[in-house]
Amino acid sequence: MGTVVRNGLGPMITDRLERPLGSLRVSVTDRCNLRCRYCMPEQDYVWLPKQSILTFEEIARLVGIFTALGVEKVRLTGGEPLLRHDLPTLTRMLAGNPRIRDLALTTNGLLLAKQAEALKQAGLGRVTVSLDTLRPERMRELARSDKHSDVLDGIAAACAAGFRLKLNTVVMRGVNDDELVSLIEFGHRHRAEVRFIEYMDVGGATGWSAEQVFSQREILARLSAHFGTITAVTERVDSSAPAERFRLPDGTTFGIVASTTAPFCRSCDRSRLTADGTWFLCLYAERGIELREPLRNGATDAELSDLIAATWRGRTDRGAEQRLGMANRTPLFQVEGLRADPHREMHTRGG
Ligand code: SAM
Repeated sequence: MGTVVRNGLGPMITDRLERPLGSLRVSVTDRCNLRCRYCMPEQDYVWLPKQSILTFEEIARLVGIFTALGVEKVRLTGGEPLLRHDLPTLTRMLAGNPRIRDLALTTNGLLLAKQAEALKQAGLGRVTVSLDTLRPERMRELARSDKHSDVLDGIAAACAAGFRLKLNTVVMRGVNDDELVSLIEFGHRHRAEVRFIEYMDVGGATGWSAEQVFSQREILARLSAHFGTITAVTERVDSSAPAERFRLPDGTTFGIVASTTAPFCRSCDRSRLTADGTWFLCLYAERGIELREPLRNGATDAELSDLIAATWRGRTDRGAEQRLGMANRTPLFQVEGLRADPHREMHTRGG
């Protein structure tokens, strides 16, 4: 653990398991315009107070401190990030930070058609769209929305704007596991790499059960039964990407994020900043570190930097691995616990 200086680059802060402070997910709002069964299944929610939401200037300042400590990858997320008014302005502010090597966005795509071009102009590098089904009626049931065509329009607009796209699919047994082949084919047509995500027992997933998890092994079996032999793509040794990537016989690649059955805690370099400035070191962490209070109470950049660096150096989190070791795994939180502290919600922590 400590600080290592990289060739020609800034410092690299590492935690107790030698994991660098490498990537930061910035949630810009806890609000969402979908109600996905695996994330926001309830009828109503406790939202973060408006006055606690960081301004763009506050976000850019904190991101600047994180990048000075070694963060090179920043992903804007939420809730639904495109619900935040004028996201291209924040994007432009962050794109002006030369330490950010990879500036990305995760969105459900509903509002992407209108904003794709402005985001591209603002300097956004990559877009990931969540797409759990190709069937509008299924989306109605899974996400309580009849706007499937808006998502498809958003994907088309992002392609037209010249973005490299990824598509995220949370696979749930008996819900959408029959669409793996068609999703791969859809991705192929849009030159977008599909990433299948195992259903995780994160905060918000109050209906989670182990039986509904369609595992990496099953995903591979299903796809190879259709496409033939699948080979693993060898990643760079220093890759901390959560998805394991695979190649079909025709060269099409896809990823699987096996956080539930094969966690990648040992190489996890990501942390999360909520829209109200709470910093989480692990998706499964019980609590986060308040950065908004010192920020608004006049802390200097050096003081905030010291707080962040000291916290990261002490990090030991291995949340997903610990969950895997549990005998009778049930949802991480019950509804009452989520209502008592909305910071426990996935839509607040940012996926
Ligand atoms: N609204 C945006 C979107 O839909 O992409 C960004 C926020 S969403 C919380 C980010 C990611 O978290 C999505 O890809 C979503 O599928 C994933 N996610 C949410 N709950 C999950 C769960 N229980 N298991 C696995 N992935 C989940």
